[in-house]
Parts: sequence; structure tokens; C-alpha cells
Amino acid sequence: MNQMTHPYASERTMPDPDACWDAFLRRDRGVDGQFVGVVLTTGIYCKPSCAARHPKRENMIFLPDPAAARAAGFRACLRCRPDEVGRDRLAVEAAKALIAGAETPPSLDEVAAHAGYAPHHFHRLFKRETGMTPAAYARALRAERLKAALGEENSVTEAIYEAGYNAPSRAYADAERHLGMTPSAWKNGGAGVAIRHALVPTSLGPALVAATEKGLCRISFDEDEADLRRYFPKAELLPADARLDALAKQVSALVDDPAAGADLPVDVRGTAFQQAIWAALCAIPPGETRSYGEIVAAIGKPGAVRAAGTACGDNNLAVLIPCHRVLRSDGGMGGYAYGIERKRALLEREKER
Ligand SMILES: [Zn+2]
Repeated sequence: MNQMTHPYASERTMPDPDACWDAFLRRDRGVDGQFVGVVLTTGIYCKPSCAARHPKRENMIFLPDPAAARAAGFRACLRCRPDEVGRDRLAVEAAKALIAGAETPPSLDEVAAHAGYAPHHFHRLFKRETGMTPAAYARALRAERLKAALGEENSVTEAIYEAGYNAPSRAYADAERHLGMTPSAWKNGGAGVAIRHALVPTSLGPALVAATEKGLCRISFDEDEADLRRYFPKAELLPADARLDALAKQVSALVDDPAAGADLPVDVRGTAFQQAIWAALCAIPPGETRSYGEIVAAIGKPGAVRAAGTACGDNNLAVLIPCHRVLRSDGGMGGYAYGIERKRALLEREKER
């Protein structure tokens, strides 16, 4: 709520009576808390949005705040509760701070409890003050961050939302993480980069897990060191150390429960287009699927279906970047780099959650 846009903002101690009266006639919630109106015939003061019938103009005066009205001997309206406006504003501010500071957006129940209100009441209150529900506010915040991470690709984020993605927060957090990656010098086949790797047993067969010191650079099935050498011909390939082992365990757990998500460091390079596709993949909620057509619509490039397929195929991080959530537009399973059975299994596991 930007108070500076209201004509009353600079006149807090002396509201312009005509503007105040107009605000009462409009029942303008936007200026609640900036002044109160006193009905002289009843001795009761109200906030501008009060639903009560308006008195005659000559029977109403305006004061800067409830304290001034009380000091003059007037009583607060029981219907619009003008004394609570400040408290409501503070509660909404507190909730906004809670949402902004949270790794994953808190639930409505959590936000309401934090603010000291019943959930449904707080939902209404929050929407009234901000114009958005708490969930929409959290999404908007994340969109802003995603946008910043995407740099020049601003339209990508907006398009993801416009396309009707309603992913749980973690999906956006994942997208953010992938977009915020700081790639190693992958040009020249990984020259000057050390990659540790291991084959880790998973419930879908052995997975190759490889990472630089910055993060995971390859997760795949049915591959080994020779394949890794093909992807990174000039990198220095090293055996696993304790850190890689720990990452590999987390990858194995992710295969068991792909819906659980994982906060794993990544180190993959992609063009802006590839990154946009990968972000759109990460924004698909676990347990749901999208078509390539929906993916490219989501990033604002509706003609790029074939390129999107290629970008999915270029995904270096199986399961973690969930290209298994893309189906053919007719609902068919479509392809998967590591076999249709694995794709089916991953999707079934997510659905069971
Ligand atoms: Zn009232």
C-alpha cells in the first residue's frame, strides 16, 4: 500500500474535509487508517470504508486518527472497528515480512497464526490491504526474484505464471536455484574443471552422479565414466570424495521420492532458452505433467516445440530437473532419455504422494 498516492497523506494532521467526505461516500478502504469520520448526532467515529449508512454531510466531521476522536469524547463504531485498522496494518506488515523471509512460502495457517488472526479472516484482511492473497503475494515475490535471476529474459517468468502454473513454492524455489546457477567454465569441454563422480545404486538402477566443486553437473542412468568423458572431454575426472558421496545419497533419495524435491547445488551451463525451459520444467508441480506445447507457451515461445524437446534432451540433471514431467500433447508418454519405464515409475511415485 503506497500511502503517498493518497491525497490525504501529507495532511495527516488536518485532513481536507471534502476529500474525506468523498472517501466515505466511496467507502474507500485504501484510506482506512488515515483519518476517521465522526457522526456528531451519535458521537460515534468510523473509518472511511464503514458499511453503515452515511449521515448528512453537515453532521460529520473528520479527525486525523482514533486517538484524537477518543480524546474528544467520541466512541468507536462497533461495526467498522476503526481502532483496529492500525493493528490490521501491522499484522499484514508482519505477515509480509514472514513471507519474504521464508525459504518456502508459509501456509495460510502459519501466516495467520503469526499475525494472531483466524485464517479465513486474515486471508480477507490481507487481500484487502495488499490486493492479493498471501499465496499470490508469495508467488509475486518469487516471480520478482526469478525475474532478477533471469536478467534479460523477464518475459519468461511472467509467461510461466500467465500459463497457469500453480506450482508449490518449492518448484519455484527450484527454478530459482537453477536459474541462479553460476556455471563453471564449461566451454572447451570442461578444461580446468575437476569433476568427482560415482555410480550410486538407486531404486531405478545405478545412477551416474557427477559434480564440480560448485555443484552437480550430471545425473543420469545407464552411463559411466566413459560417458562422462564424452560430455566433458577436457575435465579432470576424479573419484568420489565424502562430499560427492553425500550428494550421491541425496540423489538416490530423490529417485525414491521425486516429489520430495531436494536442495542440491547445481553447476550446469545452458543458453538462455535452455535455462528458460529448465525453469519451466521445475515449475511443474510434482504429480502433474505438461506438454511441450504448454512448456513453450509458458516461456512465451509458442513456436519452439521442437527446440524445447531438444532442450529437455540436453538436461544434464535427470530427476532433479524434472523433464520426466513432460508428456506428448495427446497425453502419450512421449520419450525419455533413460527409458519409458523409468519415466512411468517417476511419475507414479509423484502421484502417490
Ligand atoms: Zn463504522
